[in-house]
Amino acid sequence: MDATDASIDKINLLELDESGLKDFFVNLEEKPFHARQVLKWIHKFGIVDFDAMTDLSKTLRNRLKEMAKIEPPEIAEEVVSKDGTRKWLMRVAGGSLIETVFIPEESRGTLCVSSQVGCALNCTFCSTATQGFNRNLTTAEIIGQVFLACQKLKPLSLSVTNVVMMGMGEPLLNYDNVIKAMSLMRHDDGYALPRRRVTLSTSGVVPNIERLAKESDVSLALSLHAPNNELRNQLVPINKKYPLEILLKTCQDYVAPKPRARVTMEYVMLRGVNDSVELAKQLAKILKKVPCKINLIPFNPFPGADYERSYSDDILAFRNFLVNAGYVVTIRKTRGSDIAAACGQLVGKVLDKTRRQEKFLLKVSGGKACVGKYAEA
Ligand code: SAH
Repeated sequence: MDATDASIDKINLLELDESGLKDFFVNLEEKPFHARQVLKWIHKFGIVDFDAMTDLSKTLRNRLKEMAKIEPPEIAEEVVSKDGTRKWLMRVAGGSLIETVFIPEESRGTLCVSSQVGCALNCTFCSTATQGFNRNLTTAEIIGQVFLACQKLKPLSLSVTNVVMMGMGEPLLNYDNVIKAMSLMRHDDGYALPRRRVTLSTSGVVPNIERLAKESDVSLALSLHAPNNELRNQLVPINKKYPLEILLKTCQDYVAPKPRARVTMEYVMLRGVNDSVELAKQLAKILKKVPCKINLIPFNPFPGADYERSYSDDILAFRNFLVNAGYVVTIRKTRGSDIAAACGQLVGKVLDKTRRQEKFLLKVSGGKACVGKYAEA
């Protein structure tokens, strides 16, 4: 067996949250408190060299070297926008590329993290959907995005103060791995992010919102985008499975036990589709019982998209109606669009198992062979 073969069986410690690390040490017949020590070295200090973990005995360090590794995805490319937004393309096992975006603001730095390679849902305004679906990301690949971003940002005196699970994929369809990764984001010896600064965004997978309410305390964002089932069925097809009545009740229950918590309702503004004052009126009505704030997202176009961004005046009229109805409403600033890093523009390079990409390219090219970036992707 050569060195490469030996490394194949090593366990990647980025896969494990605190309880997984405890089990790992117990299985080695070592003390479970080493879990916290190792978690701190990896996630708080960004150390991957076992020899540098000086509060572990030499014998234990040697055992770890033999049995374990700390292996995040590999950064294939870094792109920096003129507004300071950074996008990393990360190569994951199997060769696909996923995307992670860092958005610096005056008082915070938000990291937008991917949860799946591609996406199985077919939201009609989202470019990730055109890529089709390949697989769930592992815990190591999810937390690895945070780990690598911190390593890259530290020398620039930048830090991750917020994480939003709003990159590629539907986080609640990769529940177990996402929840482990989020527990490392929240852990005092990990990234130590307060619960309000870790946000999971979902298209509305009701049973897993219910599960999340019991098993986690992170903030919830819902990709709402329409105030009635007819329109939402078109924009967010998973709505046919979990319609608005049941979805909004689940959101209400999610925040009910948490003092002052609110669900963020995301609403992408699509010209002439969902941006009329009449629809704002419907929205104000259906959200009455849900403690929430509303985040309007001007649509970010991508090649082949069927929609256009709403006119600014329409976005303002929509916002004003909701504000007058008593809601807290923000309009999301578009960041990083020059590097295709804005919301809904993440495509990566996915080895598509669903062949949706093929169909999309055919549609975009009007049935003719299509060349260029998106054909190669
Ligand atoms: N699957 C999850 C997380 C990924 S999408 C979800 O649906 O919430 C993250 C956010 O970006 C969602 O609110 C999504 O609706 C929005 N989004 C997707 N495509 C967009 C686009 N082209 N322009 C603006 N926002 C978009």
